[in-house]
Amino acid sequence: MALPDPSLTYSELVTTPRLYLPFERAFNSGLTVSLSREQSHYLRAVLRLREGTIIRVFNAQRGEWLASLAFEGKKDATLQIENCLRDAQEETGPWLLFAPVKKAQTDLIIQKAVELGVEKIIPVETKRSNSQRINLERFEAIAVEAAEQCERLTIPVIEDIVPLHHVLSCWSEHEDALSHQGTVRPLLLCAESGSALPITQGFQEHAKTQPLPAILVGPEGGFERSELDALAQLDFVTNIGLGPRILRAETAVIAALAIVQAWCGDWQMSPPGRR
Ligand code: SAH
Repeated sequence: MALPDPSLTYSELVTTPRLYLPFERAFNSGLTVSLSREQSHYLRAVLRLREGTIIRVFNAQRGEWLASLAFEGKKDATLQIENCLRDAQEETGPWLLFAPVKKAQTDLIIQKAVELGVEKIIPVETKRSNSQRINLERFEAIAVEAAEQCERLTIPVIEDIVPLHHVLSCWSEHEDALSHQGTVRPLLLCAESGSALPITQGFQEHAKTQPLPAILVGPEGGFERSELDALAQLDFVTNIGLGPRILRAETAVIAALAIVQAWCGDWQMSPPGRR
């Protein structure tokens, strides 16, 4: 673990802005990275940072580094890479499968799923889902902004929307649905109707196995009986309940992910630098 820059106090470090820079910009001390016009605008006009400001840049491959901001002309900017704060590390987490709901609530689901540490997000089309199309670019922008804020080093993989029955039919062949020992990733179906164990009992047996469970949350209209019957035939699916009230989809996503992370995920850890 690289040490933070000794000239920065911890309180300054926590407040320094974070910027996700995709891998094609491999960081090394002394390297100067030219920013895109959008990134330059974000730092210069939106955050209104002054020249020489120290910020943090990160990505999954190179970890998190300190960098100093330099202006180029009236609109562009470069970053001088200084030193490494956090080495790259794998950030495993639960998966989220969800049926998109209204735009604002769907955006909230993406943002909260990133903060709660999901590793992969798969929007699924169900019989009652609101839409068959998603704006993947918008989802990815929301995910990057949420990762910058919550101090993740990785951006979760977000797949394009796919029919639920298709995901399920190739679940165990999915290259990373299998853990290293070849066990299939459990799928916890948030079932507001029918038979379901309370979530804390529903996945006891999965609690300490890798890979972490996937969560499936339905649309505003819920799942159709035929979908629930098909899911009940799959041995990797467990129905779980989230209490006696009917939650909005976005509430169910947040509640289920929080419980999974607290029970068998990374909530034993504290935020970086605050250990
Ligand atoms: N159409 C349903 C509500 C669907 S809520 C009705 O009005 O009765 C959207 C999704 O949130 C559901 O498909 C389910 O996946 C999840 N959900 C909501 N409340 C839940 C609960 N108490 N237990 C488990 N899952 C729940």
